Amino acid sequence: MTLGSTNTVLSATTSSANLGLMQKTNLLGLSINDLEAKMVMLGLPKFRARQVWRWVWRHGLTNFDEMSDLGKPARGQLSKIFSADRPMVSQRLQSIDGTIKWLIRFDDGNEAECVYIPDKTRGTLCVSSQVGCTLTCSFCHTGTQKLVRNLTVAEICGQVTLAMDELSDWPSGKPKRRLTNIVLMGMGEPLFNYDNVAAAMRIIMSGEGVAISKRRITLSTSGVVPEIKRCGEDLGVNLAISLHATRDDLRNELVPINRKYPLAELIDACRNYPGLSNARRITWEYVMLDGINDSDEDCRALLTLIKGIPSKLNLIPFNPWPGSPYICSSNDRIEAFARRVLNAGYASPVRKPRGRDILAACGQLKSESQRARRQKTGVSF
Ligand code: SF4
Repeated sequence: MTLGSTNTVLSATTSSANLGLMQKTNLLGLSINDLEAKMVMLGLPKFRARQVWRWVWRHGLTNFDEMSDLGKPARGQLSKIFSADRPMVSQRLQSIDGTIKWLIRFDDGNEAECVYIPDKTRGTLCVSSQVGCTLTCSFCHTGTQKLVRNLTVAEICGQVTLAMDELSDWPSGKPKRRLTNIVLMGMGEPLFNYDNVAAAMRIIMSGEGVAISKRRITLSTSGVVPEIKRCGEDLGVNLAISLHATRDDLRNELVPINRKYPLAELIDACRNYPGLSNARRITWEYVMLDGINDSDEDCRALLTLIKGIPSKLNLIPFNPWPGSPYICSSNDRIEAFARRVLNAGYASPVRKPRGRDILAACGQLKSESQRARRQKTGVSF
């Protein structure tokens, strides 16, 4: 995010009376360079930026009064201009398997979902990049919701800080942290909001802050081919492809962006993903849909399609949602499909369903909340 894109413009001559009227800038959306430039514009020493940054990103502080190495006047001045506010939680559900799902409400009332999935050796946060989605993948509940807008840098980073608050994961460098991995697999297509997603991930990766390594961040795309290379060169994060079909006619139906960027182009972009190696493989996501894409022949075609590309395969049992046009493949079918995949040398290919008791399908919590509000107010959102 550039300085010009924040909604508050500050100058060294800003009077304190004006400060009270101005909307505060959320620090969660600023890189260290942005923050340094703001300090200079305010006539404050540049080193203040690093002090504030450490309090916000190392210690998770939101209250300037607790930033003990800042003098009292500086604390007062900065608190009038900046905040480190988290988005509001409008609903929180916890599964019996430990998965936590938050429905998050932003300042303008829009909502998106964020999910924490604990496992034996890692804790993964699934982050949203947009409110709703323009793509209408037919198996995806979020795809039934209209795109409202892109999330800002602060709103993307805010999901991470909110989860870390709840998991008591501050200070951020502590051993045995609970949040170890991030997947951009929540609501929205991250490559349609690339600039904000990239700026947010740089903040989260910064060694002076939360310091989650690029090896522990995975960006999942439905196949926005022109942005794939840039993502690899710029960010170097892991790439996951929402594949789900091996023929253009079927993929056009399941993942309609395929009409614009067909399989041959997508596979080519993946084969050339910067930094691809056996240590850094493409993850292919493949949702198991009964009678649609789950035959032995589909499996053979899948293995042929990705041949020669360092790959991980992720078979996802379909999570039905009210009105969904598909049902999940049977356990026997999933096992047979997985066996073939396993025999071809890909380990542990079936994703364990998590949080099934808490409206697990992505987007379902948001729809339920909208329905409840509609019933209460008679107004459609
Ligand atoms: S799968 Fe992803 S890209 Fe497709 S509709 Fe759902 S949120 Fe959008």
